[in-house]
Amino acid sequence: MNLAFDLTFDRGLDGDPKPDDLVQPFRIDPFALRGRLVRLGPAVDRILSQHDYPEPVAAILGEAITLAVVLAGALKYDGVFTLQTKSDGPVRLIVADVSTEGAVRGYAQYDAERLASAGAAATAGRGRSPSVPDLIGAGYIAFTVDQGEDTERYQGIVELAGATLAECAQHYFRQSEQFQAAIKLAVARSGPEGGWRAGGLMLQRVPPEGGSPLIADDVEDGWRRAMVLMSSATPFELVDAELSPRRLLLRLFHNEGVRVYDTHPLEARCRCSRERILNILRSFPGAEIEEMRNEAVTTVTCQFCNRSYRFDRDDLDRIAAE
Ligand SMILES: [Zn+2]
Repeated sequence: MNLAFDLTFDRGLDGDPKPDDLVQPFRIDPFALRGRLVRLGPAVDRILSQHDYPEPVAAILGEAITLAVVLAGALKYDGVFTLQTKSDGPVRLIVADVSTEGAVRGYAQYDAERLASAGAAATAGRGRSPSVPDLIGAGYIAFTVDQGEDTERYQGIVELAGATLAECAQHYFRQSEQFQAAIKLAVARSGPEGGWRAGGLMLQRVPPEGGSPLIADDVEDGWRRAMVLMSSATPFELVDAELSPRRLLLRLFHNEGVRVYDTHPLEARCRCSRERILNILRSFPGAEIEEMRNEAVTTVTCQFCNRSYRFDRDDLDRIAAE
């Protein structure tokens, strides 16, 4: 059920414990706008803490994860949405994915020496978004929707163009012309324990339902005004654990008639398992399995969550015999 209610009458606003790790959908019907506010606290902290990433790498991965969640919410799908960058900068690969159930994970591959010499550390954690040119460099960003076997995979791919990941996503929208949307992302260490937090805001134009008599000029003005209001949200507000998502939306869009809908929970959860890794090993060429059988134990580590799976000679013998 999708219950909408007017924020102005939300009496629980101040008494609520501040909800976290969620997607808060909202609509601004007078201007045919739909949006989502994403808040990530313990979930993004857990993902980033599973790895020993340098600060700038953790920061840009945190933004990528948030972007994946923000974008996934714009699509109707049942499966996994993946965002991936591949590029020539110090951070050569980023993967972030989110399932329909709200399981989120991600990892990055980087070159520590190049990262140090790029001086990229200076760009993170000071209220600015991590720099795409400094950290990721030139390359592409791809979005994939995988709905399981026997279904068509959707993939969109575009050259990385923009100073931040949010700008790169907007560049993608302009290229694909599928919809008009604006995105804002923030990531920071905050709170007493200095845990990672992230926030994302996306606004998109939707065709008015049921041929409602919206006047084109009003809708155009509304879009422009909403974008100005959205850009007034500070990075700190986007990640502030003390500011509830509803209160932030009310602060930004109270004069525009914003309405919020049921939230969707998010959690840090990897989908790796011994069975899945075995399946990957089964797809290896026989010669490579043969080589692994020379070792007493082969350890496979999940890049997403750093969990290690051990396979001994008996395991590999069984795969080779299949
Ligand atoms: Zn894993």
